[in-house]
Amino acid sequence: MQQRYGYGYVRVSTDKQEELSPDSQENLIREYGKKNNIVILKIFFEIGVSGRSADKRPAFQEMIGSAKSKEHPVDVILVWKYSRFARNQEESIVYKSLLKKQNNVDVLSISEPLIDGPFGSLIERIIEWMDEYYSIRLSGEVFRGMKENAMRGAFQARPPLGYRISEQGKPPVIVPEEAELIRLIFHKYANEKLGFFDIARYLNSRGFLTAHGKPFERRSIEYIIQNPMYCGMIRWNRTHNASNEIKDPSEWIVVDGEHEPIISKELYEAAQERLRSTYKPSGTRPSSTYRHWLSGLLKCPDCGRTLTACTMRRRNGEKYSYFSCYGYSKGKCKKPNGISSLVLEKEVMNSLREILDTKTIEYELRNYEPVEITNEYQTLQKRLDGLIHKEERIKASYREGIDTLEEYRENKQLIQEERERLNSQLKELSDSESEKETAPDSQAMLKRVQSIYTILESDKYTTAQKNEALKQIVDKIIYNRRENTLKIYFFYYT
Ligand SMILES: [Zn+2]
Repeated sequence: MQQRYGYGYVRVSTDKQEELSPDSQENLIREYGKKNNIVILKIFFEIGVSGRSADKRPAFQEMIGSAKSKEHPVDVILVWKYSRFARNQEESIVYKSLLKKQNNVDVLSISEPLIDGPFGSLIERIIEWMDEYYSIRLSGEVFRGMKENAMRGAFQARPPLGYRISEQGKPPVIVPEEAELIRLIFHKYANEKLGFFDIARYLNSRGFLTAHGKPFERRSIEYIIQNPMYCGMIRWNRTHNASNEIKDPSEWIVVDGEHEPIISKELYEAAQERLRSTYKPSGTRPSSTYRHWLSGLLKCPDCGRTLTACTMRRRNGEKYSYFSCYGYSKGKCKKPNGISSLVLEKEVMNSLREILDTKTIEYELRNYEPVEITNEYQTLQKRLDGLIHKEERIKASYREGIDTLEEYRENKQLIQEERERLNSQLKELSDSESEKETAPDSQAMLKRVQSIYTILESDKYTTAQKNEALKQIVDKIIYNRRENTLKIYFFYYT
């Protein structure tokens, strides 16, 4: 029998009597590994977690993350029973088939029979079909749970300006003077088309204060304008709990609340409409909805339209993006100019490498935009603050025996590295701001290219982060297949 590598997963919840102790589960898994020529690289323990949902199980998440990593460390995950692996059959099927399909990792129960032969593959096929159905149903369940939490959460949290809690556990009630202020803000923004900053100045000049008793800032207005609570809705799942980072709006959950609205849904929608049209440059989508790190940057060599990506799959299961001219699909361009990301990625990386090697680069100088820098500052600062939470979390995992001392040290090291990186980015930002009087030489531009290149090369960053990074220096990329040329249009913000 061919040797294979595996992880073990042991979970004991506090509320069940009939299950095996963690030690017995571990022993059985190790025994099974020995008998079946599976080298157990690591056993992940989840003790005392009732496991209602996967995201509350840190060891499970860590194990799945590792099993899905590019290095393909293991071929199999061993559990005592499938019920240990997931909280229910649905979840188990989804994780199992995703791991199998995308990463070729098997999940095996050592005490439940494996179905071989034609029936086994039939069941596998059915599981594949059911995948989508179940993930939809699962998200429905997740949604219901979140909605309940949202209802509860909204009444526990400090209500925003315009509302106050009159009775614990009951919907907040309107504070009339403050509500007047909210209506004024929405009116100024949606109807009078004032900017966030101008509204803040206007309110401060009249002596109004925020819910925290402070003068209004640009971002306090921005926050109010984006808060659906004012039109009677409740928003949930807007930020990551640990880092406070704002999630992509498609992940937010907005439901009808039980409190009285301060403004109409029409006024709220009008404000959102203005926000959408003024906030981002027209025609571009937020990076997080992009499918590839080159998305939005590739332009058609014939008509100049943006190439759009669709996800394809190779025979071996590897996914890639296929870009083609948006105009062609609308009949407005004569050539599809289709190109695979597998080719483009290499071409772009080679091209960047060449620039760094030869130290020559052409770029366009652009004017300094204070808002962008401020946003970048805030983002970096927020991420720095978020590290404190991360640190607390890993400390807790170690204290509760979920992580070993070694894992704790490793995680701590990773956090320290990220902190150093963020600090140096912050420093660079303030340096670049103080340097803005002098025109930058290509040295500074090359430095930026180098740092972006490092990000693109690393697998620590998400597609969206890579896309965001590249857009800091690249305006557009034109690849001409017939002439086999690739031109990257760089810019430099002074
Ligand atoms: Zn075209």
